[in-house]
Amino acid sequence: MGFLLDGRCQCGWECRGLTVGVGMKHGPDTWLSPCTCGRCGTIVSANVRADPIKCPKCRRATVVPLVDPDHGCEADEAFPSCQASEPLMEDRFACPKCGTRQLRFRFAGLWD
Ligand SMILES: [Zn+2]
Ligand SMILES: [Zn+2]
Repeated sequence: MGFLLDGRCQCGWECRGLTVGVGMKHGPDTWLSPCTCGRCGTIVSANVRADPIKCPKCRRATVVPLVDPDHGCEADEAFPSCQASEPLMEDRFACPKCGTRQLRFRFAGLWD
């Protein structure tokens, strides 16, 4: 199960319903995380287990994950732990529009 995030920056830029984590239909090789796509100039939800990580919009490997999926992961764990997504709620991130680290996320619901 994963969850949804809404993101908002001081400059007014916002995004809604970014999916984070794994869904029921996904296997252990999928873990969705918000990523910055340099080509699209926006935040997308991409599978950070893929190599290379590709933007779901432009299909290019131009995305940078906002969090490390292996953060807090035990060596024998197949799935990223929930620790990996914690910084999304706590930290501020670079806004794709104004470039300042004023982008904050908030919990917007669960998905499966
Ligand atoms: Zn893109
Ligand atoms: Zn901004």
